[in-house]
Amino acid sequence: MNVADAAELAAQLDARGGHAVDSPEQAGLILINTCTVRQKAEDKALSFFGGLKALKHGRPRGAGPLIVAMGCVIPKRKAEIQRQFPFVDVLLDYSDPELVLAELARCFPPLAAMPALEAPPPAVNPELCRASFVTAIRGCNHRCSYCVVPSARGPQRDTPLGDIVAQAQALEAAGAADMTVLGQNILAYGRTSGPGAPGFCELMEALLARTGFRWLSFLTSLPADLTAEVCQRVLAQPRVAPLLHLPVQSGSAKVLGEMRRGYTVEHYRRVVELARQARPDLYLTTDLLVGFPTETERDFEETLALVRDVGFDDAFMFAYSPRPGTPASLELEDRLPRPEKLERLKQLIAVQRELGAVRNRRYLGQELEVIIEQRAPEQTTARTAFNKPVYLAACRQRVGGFTHVRINAVRTSSFYGEER
Ligand code: SAH
Repeated sequence: MNVADAAELAAQLDARGGHAVDSPEQAGLILINTCTVRQKAEDKALSFFGGLKALKHGRPRGAGPLIVAMGCVIPKRKAEIQRQFPFVDVLLDYSDPELVLAELARCFPPLAAMPALEAPPPAVNPELCRASFVTAIRGCNHRCSYCVVPSARGPQRDTPLGDIVAQAQALEAAGAADMTVLGQNILAYGRTSGPGAPGFCELMEALLARTGFRWLSFLTSLPADLTAEVCQRVLAQPRVAPLLHLPVQSGSAKVLGEMRRGYTVEHYRRVVELARQARPDLYLTTDLLVGFPTETERDFEETLALVRDVGFDDAFMFAYSPRPGTPASLELEDRLPRPEKLERLKQLIAVQRELGAVRNRRYLGQELEVIIEQRAPEQTTARTAFNKPVYLAACRQRVGGFTHVRINAVRTSSFYGEER
């Protein structure tokens, strides 16, 4: 979602005559989007601010590039940022692109001089012809006990269906070959828009009917809301990518309950079955969070067992960090020492990496459709519908075009193949 917000802002600035430069030294405007979902993300933002100090050093106040920091770290640590990094010119408490843009129009003179645009320009990456996102839901109404997103990004706001379709059509007209609709729980689309409002299935059906994208993806799905209907009406559609990101977080019933995720381990296993029945070629990925405050060694073993059992093709794995203001940080003591958490994380990563490597070998010798992302004399980079990079020694297809490849080697995070 942060990538999508940044891409939208970049497109907006480009449409007003701006262009990206290669280094901060060349920039007139430096816009930093911050994220507070985990401690590590927050630390990264602060250390990035530190690195910008030299840009303003020795210059009178107001000279040099305008440095603007935005996103959810700002409201939390404003006083500290002002004190430690006084050279950051503007601090914005939010990340909604239209709000940020309105503020930039006030404080960045070159932008203030530009006329307003009628519609937001499509945020398409012209070099890749993809990585095109449309945000269908901002904010989140769920209350997972460890998660800062609801307080950092606010309550759920649905983008009207007509606007989503219009943005998708604009992306397509600008040359995007595929797109992903985004929401913290995309399956909750429409739920806060009043009775009778179109839901997730209607949204995806509208996108299928009114755009010609070869592949449509959606991100992220809360397991509690993955129904047989979603599997049939969406996942089973050939133009929907065979990719499901279904964060499970933990394999322990107790921990899942305390995380307030709203589903059980059994429910999770059942919906994975449904999804795989609807889409036998499904590539299944997940998020796993280890070291939740009450997680015992046994709970952790249950997570390992679930991982072995379900068979994830890939996983994003994190060590718990208490997020200020969340129920878990207020009500539960973060008892587990950090080295212990990291030890569990290491173990989990090792198990998943090995299983993932074995699972990914099922693609060996298979023919897959890919989109060409980048061409160089020695090597072409392509990507499958489930977002796996495929490297090709030679290729006839142009960038942005689709072709078929035979997979002849499988590595941890990429495939090697040859064009058919
Ligand atoms: N809305 C999505 C994901 C949001 S954040 C969902 O419900 O799945 C992405 C991932 O960051 C989460 O799935 C979780 O695994 C991880 N995460 C969230 N809060 C965290 C915390 N306090 N500590 C460590 N990891 C966290």
